[in-house]
Amino acid sequence: MEKKIYIVKRISKGAENINTYWIAPEDGKLMDYRPGQFLMLFMIGPHGTPEPTGRPYSIASSPTNRNYIELNIKMLGHFPGRLATLKEGDRIAAMGPMGIHTFEEAQMPEVTLIAGGVGACPLLSMIRYAAEKRLRNKITLFYSARTPADVIHCDELKALAAKDPNFKPIVTLTRCEPTAMSGMACEAGRISPEMLRKHVGNPAAQHYFICGPAAMADAVAAMLEGMNVTPDRIHKEGWG
Ligand SMILES: Cc1cc2nc3c(=O)[nH]c(=O)nc-3n(C[C@H](O)[C@H](O)[C@H](O)COP(=O)(O)OP(=O)(O)OC[C@H]3O[C@@H](n4cnc5c(N)ncnc54)[C@H](O)[C@@H]3O)c2cc1C
Repeated sequence: MEKKIYIVKRISKGAENINTYWIAPEDGKLMDYRPGQFLMLFMIGPHGTPEPTGRPYSIASSPTNRNYIELNIKMLGHFPGRLATLKEGDRIAAMGPMGIHTFEEAQMPEVTLIAGGVGACPLLSMIRYAAEKRLRNKITLFYSARTPADVIHCDELKALAAKDPNFKPIVTLTRCEPTAMSGMACEAGRISPEMLRKHVGNPAAQHYFICGPAAMADAVAAMLEGMNVTPDRIHKEGWG
């Protein structure tokens, strides 16, 4: 797979400590991808060519958007420190799309998305795709965040939920009381079988996408298996 040059079109703040980058291919030819996939990003070295080592970042935009790709990056660590030096108009390289955990609307009428922190990024692509295409699939999002300020694109999620009865976001706050969240359903503590049953009609009938820290993703997948969800319905991506 080849590395392709992109231009950084826009940089904004997606949430606390999260930068949103909009990148577009220099040659104007945006690749096709599915909601849930990611790119490998590479900085451009001093000679104008991509560096050999990159990092994976999930595509948060919908594949129906043919103008740019949106990435949301937690600005902590080595590579994000380098991304922080980028300005609008700069060049960056990317390879992809990659990843097999993709939302397939025809086979997944009911989907439950479970995000831990920045793990919400690939799930945002699925939510935006379903909204853009006005799909009838039922999508429930459980989004674990420390505080309301950590919820990426919180206002957009609220607006989508207000418009579409098939999309139901639930935030679970780990460092605040649920009353700290306004305009969106909120629960306290970690996702539990009771919480799942309360918000999702029939847990065994769902397709699950879990994305977040590896320990969290493993724990949620084990919980689902304990609830008799078959492994083919559990799509898990653990980072770190
Ligand atoms: C499929 C996937 C999708 C992801 N999507 C997102 C996303 O959408 N948003 C997001 O914020 N994060 C995402 N991540 C996490 C992201 O790829 C990085 O891991 C994260 O940004 C932290 O980068 P890091 O360089 O600090 O460390 P790491 O990625 O943990 O470091 C990985 C490697 O870099 C080496 N390394 C660390 N420091 C240095 C250094 N100073 N010099 C040279 N090498 C070094 C380490 O030895 C290690 O081998 C995703 C991860 C995966 C696997």
